[in-house]
Amino acid sequence: MKGVVFLGKRGCEVREFPVGEPGHGEVLIRLRASGICGSDLHVYRAEQATDQIRGHEPCGVVEALGPGIVALQVGDRVSVHHHWGCGACPACARGDPVACSQDRVFGVAVPGSFAEHVVAPERNCIPLPGSVSFIDGAFMACVGGTAFGALRRLGVVAHESLAVYGLGPVGLSCVLVAKAMGLRVIGLDVIAERDVIAERVNIARECGADEAIGARGEEAVAAAREFSGTNGVDYVIETSGSATARRCVIPSLRREGKAAIVGVGSSEEVINPGDIHGRAVIHGRAVTLIGSVVFPLGWSWDLARFLASSGLTFEPAVTHRFGLDDAPEALRTADEGRCGKVVFLMD
Ligand SMILES: [Zn+2]
Ligand SMILES: [Zn+2]
Repeated sequence: MKGVVFLGKRGCEVREFPVGEPGHGEVLIRLRASGICGSDLHVYRAEQATDQIRGHEPCGVVEALGPGIVALQVGDRVSVHHHWGCGACPACARGDPVACSQDRVFGVAVPGSFAEHVVAPERNCIPLPGSVSFIDGAFMACVGGTAFGALRRLGVVAHESLAVYGLGPVGLSCVLVAKAMGLRVIGLDVIAERDVIAERVNIARECGADEAIGARGEEAVAAAREFSGTNGVDYVIETSGSATARRCVIPSLRREGKAAIVGVGSSEEVINPGDIHGRAVIHGRAVTLIGSVVFPLGWSWDLARFLASSGLTFEPAVTHRFGLDDAPEALRTADEGRCGKVVFLMD
């Protein structure tokens, strides 16, 4: 089968690999879709080559069963949660393989989803309702689930206001899920040194954002506060990982508002809980800050139901679709960042 490996310094190539053999409790999946994720790009830009097949947003059809399979059948359409976990520790018992000390991630410790097939544990496979597309299933595996997880952790209430900082694929997914949950949403692309990525602001509008702008930090905060209709939005989700955007989080919130910090990136310290300029976690605003990393495995089942019942699709966030043979162009497109989500489709 074909699989994509990274050669270091923004190189990649398609190579031939043997199709994997499902072990006990595992299935072989014929892949139909896999998104390119921001975390793939970190590795793509790195110096070193990797021999592993990359990709961790697998979605496809069960093609063969290993021994000990309980419920899955050949032909089932499934999304695959990207953290394997060991399946036996307290974190895995809580449905939180992300926190498992023996965790393995597709495309890192085990062969990933930029390929024609992948082997996965049955417990990671979430059957797709008939109305949910393979592309939506690929979003469920990582980026869409991350958005769903952040909104759930915030405990959002319909018709309240949300500011999404960062309009890459995670931010766009937050816009889509939040709109399906009935929130009012402003999308904010914060600029420091670079120009506004107009494409992303436009895609955010196409994803249903009530308002979307690119702005410098102070302007973004002013826009979020004005959008709220009061003295700040009820919720913020920060997806960009930039220090400039993180500095906007607390001033954008109303008193006792809540924010989820999702984006990884800058290591600069930006929060001073005792800041006396009306931006403080404690006195000025009494806000709640949540770190939100990915999402528990069990929530993938809830997200599948949510997609079916709400009619939500992530496809408005997709701007580019490629076959595996076009991997170099696909990676180049995603790396330039003047786009929404880039996905591989396999047939
Ligand atoms: Zn990812
Ligand atoms: Zn475990």
